[in-house]
Amino acid sequence: MAEQTPPRLALSGITVSYGGVPAVTDMSLTVGAGEIVCLLGPSGCGKSSTLRVSAGVERQAAGSIGIDGIEVSDGKARHDPPEARSVGLMFQDYALFPHLSVAENIGFGLRKTPGAERRRIAGDYLARVGLDGFARKYPHQLSGGEQQRVALARALAPRPRVMLMDEPFSGLDQRLRDEVRDETLAILKDEGAGVLLVTHEPDEAMRMADRIALMRDGRVVQVGAPYDLYHDPVDRQTAAFFSDLNVIETTVAGGGAETPFGRFPAAGLTDGTAVEFAVRPQHLTIATEDGRAPPAGAARGHVLRARFVGAQSLIAVAMEHGGAVMQATVPDAWQPQAGTPIWLSLRRDRCFLFPRVGAGSVASPRAAE
Ligand code: ADP
Ligand code: MG
Repeated sequence: MAEQTPPRLALSGITVSYGGVPAVTDMSLTVGAGEIVCLLGPSGCGKSSTLRVSAGVERQAAGSIGIDGIEVSDGKARHDPPEARSVGLMFQDYALFPHLSVAENIGFGLRKTPGAERRRIAGDYLARVGLDGFARKYPHQLSGGEQQRVALARALAPRPRVMLMDEPFSGLDQRLRDEVRDETLAILKDEGAGVLLVTHEPDEAMRMADRIALMRDGRVVQVGAPYDLYHDPVDRQTAAFFSDLNVIETTVAGGGAETPFGRFPAAGLTDGTAVEFAVRPQHLTIATEDGRAPPAGAARGHVLRARFVGAQSLIAVAMEHGGAVMQATVPDAWQPQAGTPIWLSLRRDRCFLFPRVGAGSVASPRAAE
């Protein structure tokens, strides 16, 4: 067998409690060298708690943390402080030292390195984040985006094995955020550290992550490449976290689920199981009734309303069969009259069937935040 390189960061069975109330429960996750793993989930699900115990600024109630195959904390007797863990930290509110120049900020983690060498490394990282010539400036003279770049340089300069980043871009306005995010991604990929990055934004996780660990209520519910979580979510909530989702409630009968779009096989689900049939708006296609035969597998409905939102239009459709209302996106501007009869069809390979848990409401991450 090939020799296995241990992961940069390994969390095994981590539980974090505050006053006896668990914030994180039995969490296990690894981050490989050069890998970016995003901890994604709604506010309060335990992302920051996971990051803080990984850094060592807090202690887990149970479980073990390893860096490059060496245990740095067992939550009990063994608990290395952050400075002994080779971790770089970057938090939204992890401010620069206001009384230190940019170069001194970046050199802060290199205090044991001789002065000339320290200045060389600081200058090197300053150039890498695109801030040549900023060495003598002070934090208050920098814009928000520049400060974030200096914070990144400061975290990376000691060459940490693990980078821990908690919503590092959330203080930046949208346009700047995309720019800083893309630059940061390129630099992180270059460095080879294992990166654990916390975000509550699905778009950010999809953009940044090699793997996403989706959390809910203190637990990891699914880990995988962005593509896999998007196209093969473990449950409806996971599917709905990444985009709006149309959900139709139905019941399994004769091994399948009846929908306005025909029957879908319900492998592994017994007859009588209450299920949710789900499909994203972008996987629905609208055809107008123009006298031709309807597309195969299409269902009849009529337009309730149409909204133009820039790159696309959102069309709400009332289904003739069953009366469900479904949202479909169509490219560009399309403004049909309410009541216009249409055919709605879908990509059968992009539909989901989930056993129903609790109330079956249509959810989106934006609505849930
Ligand atoms: P996230 O980063 O995903 O928003 P957190 O890890 O900050 O979530 O919080 C998880 C849960 O733990 C929340 O219910 C939060 O209120 C609680 N919590 C976090 N930090 C503390 C703390 N220092 N004391 C008490 N409760 C906390
Ligand atoms: Mg947080």
